[in-house]
Amino acid sequence: MKLAYIFRGIFLLCLFGAADAAALTVSPDLQSTSLIPELRLLEDPGGELDFNRVRSPAYRDRLKPWNRAAANFGYSRSAYWVAFTLRNPTDESVSLLIRQDYPLIDYLDFWGQDAGGNWQRIATGDRRPFHNRPLALRDFVFPVTLPARSERTYYLRYASQGSLNIGLSVSREHAFLARLGLEQLLLGIYYGGFLVLVLYNLFLFIAVRDRAYIYYMAYALSYGLYFAVINGIAFQFAWPDNPWLANWSLIVLVALSLLFATRFAREVCAAAILAPRTDRLARAVQFVLILLGAIAPLAGYRIVVTAVTMIALAVGVLLLAMGSISMLRGSVSARYFMLGWATLIASVIIYVVKTFGWLPHNGYTHNAFQVAALVEMVLLSLALGARVRLIRKRGYIDQLSGLYNRRFFEEQLSREFDLAGRSGTPLSLLMMDLDHFKDINDRHGHHQGDLVIHGIGQLIRNQVRKPVTACRYGGEEFAILLPRTDLAQSRVLAERLVRKVAELEPNGMPLTISAGVADLENNGFSAPVQLLQAADTALYRAKQAGRNRVVTASPEAGDSPGFVQSGKRQLLSP
Ligand code: GH3
Ligand code: MG
Ligand code: MG
Repeated sequence: MKLAYIFRGIFLLCLFGAADAAALTVSPDLQSTSLIPELRLLEDPGGELDFNRVRSPAYRDRLKPWNRAAANFGYSRSAYWVAFTLRNPTDESVSLLIRQDYPLIDYLDFWGQDAGGNWQRIATGDRRPFHNRPLALRDFVFPVTLPARSERTYYLRYASQGSLNIGLSVSREHAFLARLGLEQLLLGIYYGGFLVLVLYNLFLFIAVRDRAYIYYMAYALSYGLYFAVINGIAFQFAWPDNPWLANWSLIVLVALSLLFATRFAREVCAAAILAPRTDRLARAVQFVLILLGAIAPLAGYRIVVTAVTMIALAVGVLLLAMGSISMLRGSVSARYFMLGWATLIASVIIYVVKTFGWLPHNGYTHNAFQVAALVEMVLLSLALGARVRLIRKRGYIDQLSGLYNRRFFEEQLSREFDLAGRSGTPLSLLMMDLDHFKDINDRHGHHQGDLVIHGIGQLIRNQVRKPVTACRYGGEEFAILLPRTDLAQSRVLAERLVRKVAELEPNGMPLTISAGVADLENNGFSAPVQLLQAADTALYRAKQAGRNRVVTASPEAGDSPGFVQSGKRQLLSP
């Protein structure tokens, strides 16, 4: 008999003990406390349950205690219902704030009882306009009041096409405000950091005029904005009434970030020269990204998200490879690039693992990615600096024309000559010389002559694109090296340049230029200087033929001093 009483006592204790564990007791000084371990959770695969069903006694047992520290479901088609109970044992009512800290949930519905005990629903989420929120904050925050000596249960329904992270916490108002102030400060520092980097590099760009800065700024801007979307700030401040943009901006910004990161990496790692095959692959990836960014809003969100994630992984690996190759081949800026990129990759791995629900969603996993992105941006800015220092130190730029100088040309010529020889790709060279330039100096003065050379430099720079390198070879002579370009293509460029110069008429002075073009094919040159001499001889013939024209070197005409029959020809004709 007694034993039975004891057992019953233990049983009841367990029962109430269990009931106790299911409610979180709030004290007047409640700091921000995670609600995840208190949650009861129900997965609704069809997403068709409604609130009254979920709340009905039949469903009470189907809301299972979650008992875990995190509730991340990655990309899920299901709706998730959660419930939690708060108990106020004090004699005064307490005002509390329930916070969902991941702001990219598509549809988020909250139910709580008002003072009269009636259920009130708050329908929010980032597929609904921002003003649906009870508090204008980047996260979802629901104010509730718990009457004295009461116990209340609250329900939420989550449905999202993106990653479904449940990050619920509760705190007293004053504790929340203190925390909010700190968070806003940290976010301000964070975005301030991005802004400073963009502005700093903008000024450097104005001074240095290196294209890589443009890609850097575009990368930093799209990446910074991407985080503003992730943090819910873009939706709050930039497009609060546009849920469509709130959702698609994320994907478009990822695509843009990847695009500019790739473009920047190619530039700063000098990939076209140091890692040409990886460079070609990177260009293909860029093309795919542009395509994806353009068609994204037309395709399904989930498909696009999956595609972007795949491409992001590919870009991560590709740029690691590009940086490694370039670093091994001696690029200093590639070292900084690798440091930055590796930092980012490490944090992305953490983030992805978290997104798929294999790591807890907490301050560290959530912010590691974001902090690493800023660190990466700083390191990449250093990579740019290293690159510019290098260019400056070696003095590769001709001051007057803004083109590369002769030293750079000679280094580049022998490098491209070897490369073309090994890969069997074409290589052309264009030598140009202003006609009767001495007359211009004699008639208008040396200063005017300098201005003309400056103008011609500008004209040439506007006409050539990578991988072509244009140099000022000497006084009024210019050499343009065209890798992977055959004779016919180079001749087109030469003719265009000759025409443009003739049209230029600087300060009303008539001015023309002559050009000689030579290429590697069928010439069997064994040294770069032979290519140079061939182009020079062609230029000389252009002068003789009356100037203001293009002459193409041909072995038959004896333009190639080192001309010997190529191996192929020797094989064909014994
Ligand atoms: P052509 O090439 O058509 O045969 O005639 P040219 O008069 O251009 O030929 P030449 O090579 O004899 O003269 C080149 C002149 O270019 C000599 C020099 O006065 C001028 N020159 C070379 N470098 C500079 C420079 O940096 N600034 C100025 N203002 N003039 C230069
Ligand atoms: Mg001349
Ligand atoms: Mg000359």
